[in-house]
Amino acid sequence: VLVLFDIDGTLLSGADAHLQAMAEAVQMVVGHLPPVCSDDEVGAYVGEIRINGLVDPQILALMLDAVGTTDDPATVRRIAGLAGPRYRDLLQRGAPPATALPGAVALVEALAGAGAKVGVATGNLRSIGVTKLAAAGFAGLFHCGAFSDAHRDRTAVVAEGCAHARPGEGVWVVGDTPADVAAGRANGVQVLAVTTGAYGPEELTGADVVADSLADVGALRAILSSR
Ligand SMILES: [Mg+2]
Repeated sequence: VLVLFDIDGTLLSGADAHLQAMAEAVQMVVGHLPPVCSDDEVGAYVGEIRINGLVDPQILALMLDAVGTTDDPATVRRIAGLAGPRYRDLLQRGAPPATALPGAVALVEALAGAGAKVGVATGNLRSIGVTKLAAAGFAGLFHCGAFSDAHRDRTAVVAEGCAHARPGEGVWVVGDTPADVAAGRANGVQVLAVTTGAYGPEELTGADVVADSLADVGALRAILSSR
């Protein structure tokens, strides 16, 4: 079985510096700082628009809209290139790094130990996601990864992740938002949803399994018994 993990709200929490780094990268290129706010309980926003479950290029496009600039692909790519270094810079200056959620490291290790292939399928840009995972203690744990750099929605990110499965191999998507559930469904794979992000079980009903956290033993059992 191949298990593809979302990052924010699923494996770890505390992505404030990520949103801030992207906003500052927008400012570096177009001269205006877009309005952003994020809260692990309530969600993350660009202006009035909730961005949980969106991929970073979509969020950058919303930031450019918010400051009245056209989101042409070349500008988005240029800003994306600056956001990773800006994120590392913010962490070096003392911004709080993301931290692993309860049970996440142990579940990834248990799946790999049981012979599963584990990867990430994330809305993060690669440069930010890799830094964030390393800071939270996940370095070296994943066999493969699909990041958002070349994609404009989560379904496409998950499709790239699914390409790492062998023919006929079962695939699970693990995520914390309705967008993860929808992307898993669109790719015809099974979905484990966790309520450790900003959504409750009533908002994640499309998933095959909903767990309180990755520390829930039912999560591991559901995935391993599906092979
Ligand atoms: Mg998430």
